Formats: sequence, structure tokens, C-alpha cells
Amino acid sequence: MRDGRIVIVGASLAGLRAAEHLRDAGFAGSLTLVGDEPHEPYDRPPLSKQVLLGQVLPEHTALPRTREIDAEWRLGIAAAGLDRDRRRVQLADGSEIEYDRLLIATGVRSRPWPNESEAALDGVCVLRTRDDTARLGRLLARRPSRVLIIGAGFTGSEIASACRERGFAVTVAERGAAPLVGALGGVVGDVAAQLQREHGVDLRCGVMVTSLEGDAGGRLRRAHLSDGSALDADIAVVALGAVRNTRWLEGSGLAAGPRGVACDAGCRAFDVHGIVTDDVFAAGDVARTPHPLFGYQFLSLEHWGNAVAQAEIAAHNMISADSRRRPHLWTPSFWSAQFGVNIKSVGAPTMGEEIVVTQGSLADHSFAAAYGYQGRVIAAVGFDHGKWMGGYRRLIEQAAPFPPELPGRRGERPVPARFPDPALPSHGPTVTLTGHSPSEKRVVFTPARA
Ligand SMILES: Cc1cc2nc3c(=O)[nH]c(=O)nc-3n(C[C@H](O)[C@H](O)[C@H](O)COP(=O)(O)OP(=O)(O)OC[C@H]3O[C@@H](n4cnc5c(N)ncnc54)[C@H](O)[C@@H]3O)c2cc1C
Repeated sequence: MRDGRIVIVGASLAGLRAAEHLRDAGFAGSLTLVGDEPHEPYDRPPLSKQVLLGQVLPEHTALPRTREIDAEWRLGIAAAGLDRDRRRVQLADGSEIEYDRLLIATGVRSRPWPNESEAALDGVCVLRTRDDTARLGRLLARRPSRVLIIGAGFTGSEIASACRERGFAVTVAERGAAPLVGALGGVVGDVAAQLQREHGVDLRCGVMVTSLEGDAGGRLRRAHLSDGSALDADIAVVALGAVRNTRWLEGSGLAAGPRGVACDAGCRAFDVHGIVTDDVFAAGDVARTPHPLFGYQFLSLEHWGNAVAQAEIAAHNMISADSRRRPHLWTPSFWSAQFGVNIKSVGAPTMGEEIVVTQGSLADHSFAAAYGYQGRVIAAVGFDHGKWMGGYRRLIEQAAPFPPELPGRRGERPVPARFPDPALPSHGPTVTLTGHSPSEKRVVFTPARA
């Protein structure tokens, strides 16, 4: 397809890269980008790092452009619905945009604090957008006596690091046994905990913040924890992970819910029956695609590199004939910078049953470690060992035996990777079957509320 109408919903990293790739590949038709934020596409990773440290202004984070895209930009307006029969995206102002091909690139948003009146207290915030960072910057300018960070995943830990570097007193409250435990397991989580404590964070694991309390003027003053303790704080950053932006797709008949938009490996969205569509595609944080390397599990990744790679594959496939379509086979990789350490991971650590330190040492907070799953290398992580991750990627892609045979590897034994119990309540949609004869059988889909 060289002509026609392509609409991209979500004007951020995946949306922009897809638009650029479409034009690179010779798409000459009309291109519309719809984004609910008022800003042109900007980069999120610096928000919790250089921007929070005051090294870069929030408005200086615009994504570099690789080319002109000659698109109509509809910024500051959300897509509110999708009519697949009429091939129209409905916007929040009641207008509609017709498409021949649609790309869903609506990403994720921060999971909000569950109590709305507490979330509205002056001093309570999240960090996902440029405006969020500017708001947190204004709160920090008041010189708070203590910053409470609720949740010690990557974002929470990076914010804790930046706040400590700026000299603020910081408490981190984490429900799990250690920071980063959900992403990297307990062995690496213990190292992350030591790092936080060595940098002066008051780290409290195995506890939940149960409520936030304000003063008469509506300003946050105190937090109550599940262990019965209370803590004075005038800023609380809620870092409880992310929710996929799929609510606008309710009623569209797509397999879209709180876990994202399910697609095939070519980024074509599935409908609720599991039948692949041919005119709706998804890319970036909002998409879930099966990956052959990981047992064809549907992976939903919140990784910068994944958004770029998947956007290019989706764009290519949107305008290519069947025989020329490509699969999205990117090996996951992620980086983070916190407490003076560069963390990099490749593969799918959360599938790891065991972990073995292959270079450096945990005690020095400088190491590489490989994760094993059913006798093969499934992932690796490096603390200040990023340059070696390319080699581990090759081991993962070749399904190399675990523990890996590496020259010079000392005789460390693999130990359990200690991921949290997966028997957690599901955020997935409820799917039921109706009908008896094959021609009547249908799926009834009840999206779960995030
Ligand atoms: C603070 C922070 C730090 C990060 N650090 C790292 C890092 O160190 N390393 C790394 O690999 N990754 C990092 N990431 C993740 C990385 O930024 C994301 O993977 C990437 O932004 C995904 O791009 P995307 O385009 O898929 O989604 P997003 O960037 O989330 O963009 C989606 C866009 O769609 C818009 N949208 C949503 N709903 C609608 C609607 N209904 N209508 C119109 N528009 C809509 C959203 O507002 C948003 O602008 C970080 C993310 C954050 C927030």
C-alpha cells in the first residue's frame, strides 16, 4: 500500500518512529497523528534521571526527528472510541477520522493512588509525563522535609536516587521483599536494597502505604503504613507501575484490556475471538506480542528499544503485501541509571528460575549474572557491566545451556532467582464462550477495570 489513509493514535516514541518509517518506506498517502498530550513527541527516560536532577529542562526533551513526516497533527485531543466496521477513530470532541490502516500506540499511564481524595492532596504525584516532572520539580523547589516514594520498581528507584542526589531525605516503601524484585528477582533485589541504604534511603520493604493524610489546607502531611507506623512527609510520589491505555478501545471488539492490545508477531491486532485483523496494528508499551524465544508467551514490554523496533515492524507491515511482512523478534533489553550504577538487562529475567553470577561480584555492586529457565539462558543483567550484554543476548538467542560456559567464569553455583509468587490476582479480562454449534460459537469479553 503506497497511498490511502493511515491514522496513528498515540503521538510519542512508537507513534513518531512508525510515522518516520512509513515515509522512509515510501508511503505517500495521508498520515494523521493523534495525541492526547499537548506536546510534540518527547523522550521519557530522562524525566526520572537528568530532568529530575535539574540537568535538563522538561521542555528540552523533544525526541530528535530523523526526517520530515508530512503529517496532520491532532495534539491535545484524545481518541475516545474505535468503530472498526466504519473504520473510524472517534475523538473526544465528537469528530471522527477515517482510516485504511490504524496504528495503536497509546502506551501506558501511571497507576494512580487508589484513594481519589488522598491522590488529590497537594504533594501527592506520579511521574510519567513531562508535565508530571515539571510538577514534581515545583514540589521539590519547596524544599520538602521528606519525600516518600511508594513503590521501588525502576521508576520509583530512579526517583529515590535523584532525590537523594539532590540532598532530600527519602523514604521508599515497597510491598515486595526488595527494590526491583518484580523485574529482576530477589538476588539482584538484595543488591538494589544495599545500594539504596548505602545512599541514605530509609528503605522499608514488606510494607504497604495504607493511607495518606493531609492538613486542614489540603497539603500532604503524613503517611500510614501497614506495619502500624506513620511517617511525616510532604511529598509522596506514587510509583506503583503502569496501566495500559486501552480504555478508549472498549466496545471495539479488539482483544484489548488492562494487559494491552494482543497482536500477532507482525503487530496485527487480534479481535476478541483471537482472529487477527488486517487493518489495525499496535506497537510500543501498549502492545502484547508472542515471542518464539520465550515459548510464544505474549510479552508486554515497557522498554524504549522495544517501542522503536516494534514501531518499525508495524509500519513496514502496514504497507506491505503478506509475503513481505516481518515478525517482531526483538530480544528485550532495558537500561536504568540509579545510585551511580548503570543497570542493563537483556532477555526475560522474570522467566528465570535460577541466577548465576558470571562476572564481577554482588558484594561490589558490579557484576553480570545470567538467568536460567529449563536448562537454557533466558536473560542476563549487568550492574556496571552493560558492555557485556551483547554477548549475553547472543547466548539467549542461541538458547545456550544454563549455566553458561564462559571463559574465566569462576565456579559460582546457580541459586534460585527468587521472583515473587506469581499467584497474584489477575488483571486480565474475563472471557466466556457462548453458542453450541461451531457457526454460533462466540467469545463474550468483559474488560477488567484497572
Ligand atoms: C520516567 C520514565 C523513565 C523511563 N526510563 C526508561 C529507561 O531507562 N529505559 C527504557 O528502556 N525505558 C524507559 N522508560 C520507558 C520508555 O519511555 C517507554 O517504553 C516508551 O516511552 C514507550 O513509548 P510508547 O510510544 O509506546 O508509549 P508512550 O511513550 O507511553 O506514549 C503513548 C502516548 O499516547 C498517548 N495516549 C494515550 N491514550 C491516548 C488516547 N486515547 N488518544 C490519544 N493519545 C493517547 C499518551 O498520552 C502518550 O503520549 C521510561 C519511562 C518513563 C515514564
